[in-house]
Amino acid sequence: MANFYITTPIYYVNGDPHLGTAYAEINADAFARWHRLLGDQVRFVTGTDEHGLKIAQAAAEHGVTPQEWVDRTSERFRGAWGKLDISFDDFIRTTEPRHVSTVQEFLSEIYRRGYIYKDLYVGLYCISCEAYYQESELVDGKDCPVHGRPVTEMSEENYFFALSKFNDRLIEFYENNPGAITPETRLHEVLGFLRQGLTDISITRSSIDWGVSVPWDEQHVFYVWYDALINYLTAVGYGDGSGAFEQWWPSVHHLLGKDILRFHAVWWPAMCMAAGIDPPAHFLVTGWMLVNGEKMSKSLGNQIDPMAVASDLSSDALRYYLLRANGFGLDGDVSLESLYRVYNADLANDLGNLVSRVVALSIQKGGGRAPAVPEIGSDPLGAKPLLEGSIAAWNAFRPMDAIDHAMAIVRAGNSLLERAEPWRRPEGDAESLDALGRVREGLRLAAVLLSPAIPKASLEIFVRLGFGGAGELRWTAEAGGATLEKRPPLFPRAVAG
Ligand SMILES: [Zn+2]
Repeated sequence: MANFYITTPIYYVNGDPHLGTAYAEINADAFARWHRLLGDQVRFVTGTDEHGLKIAQAAAEHGVTPQEWVDRTSERFRGAWGKLDISFDDFIRTTEPRHVSTVQEFLSEIYRRGYIYKDLYVGLYCISCEAYYQESELVDGKDCPVHGRPVTEMSEENYFFALSKFNDRLIEFYENNPGAITPETRLHEVLGFLRQGLTDISITRSSIDWGVSVPWDEQHVFYVWYDALINYLTAVGYGDGSGAFEQWWPSVHHLLGKDILRFHAVWWPAMCMAAGIDPPAHFLVTGWMLVNGEKMSKSLGNQIDPMAVASDLSSDALRYYLLRANGFGLDGDVSLESLYRVYNADLANDLGNLVSRVVALSIQKGGGRAPAVPEIGSDPLGAKPLLEGSIAAWNAFRPMDAIDHAMAIVRAGNSLLERAEPWRRPEGDAESLDALGRVREGLRLAAVLLSPAIPKASLEIFVRLGFGGAGELRWTAEAGGATLEKRPPLFPRAVAG
């Protein structure tokens, strides 16, 4: 049995679940579901990033402790993903003891190997925040974003990671493993960055206490990005001696947005090399979803609320649209108008109507029994190339292609029915029942192939077409004979509210 380990970024708990994070979750979930269908042993991990100064500040503003604050905010993410049918196997919170001890053990190993050293850190400091800021975070390049007062240049002793020592090894790694970053444009971006040369980076702060403390010098905590990346090891039991780590690492697929590519594809593999473990095998980099060519943002008021779509239509509708709208890895436009258009055309019309027609015609012309597939194991719709195309696309992390191939099977079923015209033929007519049997089998295959995108509807299609209601999708064909009954539309037509 093959192993399939996939992760999403862990989300900063001060934010809200939004379309971008939902997009990452839905893609990772679809890949995890696909590999479960293949019979692989799957580990799908997501979670929340809960340390850092801004979280401590937000907690103080709300009059609660940082721990109370992150308990509350983390739960919003877990709840949202539940509503979108995200089937994660583990939900990591960076404040959990298992994570704190993994961070300390992993970074101690890097320290022991001589890649962490103490030096003077010079930065822009707000005395009221007791924190450093990057110049880009300041208002007008000079004022604290919290207090609106000028920051001052300060210096303190910090621990640094010797990132520059891994410059050549990283270049060599990516040159030898060009498939480690997809799409390929992102690989070139990383190589370009590496060829400019890396500098060492400060990885601890002594002015903050909401973080994981440095085990060899408790005056310091690790910088939040350092702590967060290590969740990918916590989830597979790094250092716990159970053997899980050896089973899952390094053949991991890290799904991430292109805005956090450098942290993931430069810092993180260098940290792994420094600790004496292999770098992660694969980065799957998503593009941005744009509205009329612009990034969604609160200030532009052009956001699509994924939770509202899931409750107005269904989680399947949202999932289908996001997986189908753009090729994986590319930027692409999304809008509520196109979401409703795709929903009505593909799900309500092509797929939903065909299921209803097969059921209704089987009741009228076949005595209410599910029509048998002509020859079990045959290719009743001539759909083999489509089936193979969809499988290949799912295996290659191309959900849009996989869905397109599956929907082409559905459309082939529609065409066959239009040609056979069972509604014009008498009850029990052999040709009609043959056509209905073929279409029923085509719908079964399509439901399996679409199930990573629309898990609830796929199971419902199985039930409605008499393929057994045990809540399990099957790859192999089955005989007919089950009793069918009319039900309300699978995807009722909808108009944007
Ligand atoms: Zn300040």
